[in-house]
Amino acid sequence: MNNIVFDVDGIILDYNNSFNDYVKKRFNKCIHFNIYDFRKQLLEQGCELDANDLYQIYREFENTNPVIPLLDKNIPEIMNKIMEHNNIIIISKYSNLQNRIENLKEMKIPYNELICPCDNKIDYIKIYKPTFIIEDSPEMLELLIDNNYNVIIPKKWNYSLDVFNKHKDKTNVYGYDKFEEILERIIIS
Ligand SMILES: [Mg+2]
Repeated sequence: MNNIVFDVDGIILDYNNSFNDYVKKRFNKCIHFNIYDFRKQLLEQGCELDANDLYQIYREFENTNPVIPLLDKNIPEIMNKIMEHNNIIIISKYSNLQNRIENLKEMKIPYNELICPCDNKIDYIKIYKPTFIIEDSPEMLELLIDNNYNVIIPKKWNYSLDVFNKHKDKTNVYGYDKFEEILERIIIS
């Protein structure tokens, strides 16, 4: 069986919106954040934050044991279909393992392995040699594309759409609007 690597936040679970809600309460500011331009937007609003502060806020949020909702209600069913013929390896940077396990269970997300928290995703990817990686982090995507891995990128977020548009002519780069397109991509390959 082939291995398929899934990221969680921004792919399966709606981290961005849940984090926004937390930040709105915490800073009493009504801004639309995503995890990749959060710091910039806070600075524009006169909130000085360094990288450590930002790291603390992510951890703080993750330690409230949030139940982060699915990005699409069809995700569990589609992942079950993918798992009929592939191993699903979930690799996540999320810091709160117990919360992550419970959240994925509550959302009925199937997987063969969960690596979390993971700060060296590329090392695991070298071991698992996945046929596809579903990822939204711009930095990680650049690294994966550079190393000739097949990536499937959500076009939903501006930050990942930018990476997709930059590399879409490459044969190892695919984009999707709807989650079921991931299944179609894996089947036809
Ligand atoms: Mg992500």
